[in-house]
Amino acid sequence: MSGGDERGSGALGGGPRTPLTWGPRGLPVPWAVRWSGELVVTDEALTVGGEGRGLAYRDERAGDRDRHGVLWARLTEEPGSGQPEFRCMHPVRQRRAMLERLCQVCGGPADRNGRGWLFALRRPGAAEEVPGWPEGLLCTKPPVCAPCAHLAVAHCPHLGEPVFVRSRKPRVWGAFGGFFVPGPRGGLAASGDDHLPYGHRAAPWFVANQLVVELTRCTRVPAP
Ligand SMILES: [Zn+2]
Repeated sequence: MSGGDERGSGALGGGPRTPLTWGPRGLPVPWAVRWSGELVVTDEALTVGGEGRGLAYRDERAGDRDRHGVLWARLTEEPGSGQPEFRCMHPVRQRRAMLERLCQVCGGPADRNGRGWLFALRRPGAAEEVPGWPEGLLCTKPPVCAPCAHLAVAHCPHLGEPVFVRSRKPRVWGAFGGFFVPGPRGGLAASGDDHLPYGHRAAPWFVANQLVVELTRCTRVPAP
């Protein structure tokens, strides 16, 4: 499962690497996927700050908010711990992959050509497949590199047979996460997961866990 991709150092924190594997069949686990041992540690630190105007961490530090002022969930980072949660992505790795256009599988540079960055998307259902799809699609799955695109076809059960798309302009749109509201007896109550466009007035009550990118200037392409 090396994918023949030996660029870079593979050191922690950057550069392409051979994905960790899981189970007797040695399934490759994408770099951005969250492991069950990576725990959410948001709740105990979350409070209402700013004179009641929104959420804050009791011990808020640099990096808890993005440049739009949106608060992000806190999770431990321990890839390889427990078992992979193939349908979830770790907020830190997912966001980094989106912002730096890294392959979600190996963490190396995603594939780009004149038609744009390469994304592997779940095949749309009949109702979703409107003319022009996936132009304007809101996407939380980071791009892939060409060698890993083949891995995605072979090993990602939730993708089925994926559709490959290139986007010339994947535009940062907002975040996916959850709202929290002050409870009747104090404390905070979760009030559902949703997409939040940056600049929305409800942002102070939102905790993000995925960066959402709008795929624009899209072209459907065959598997690379
Ligand atoms: Zn890759």
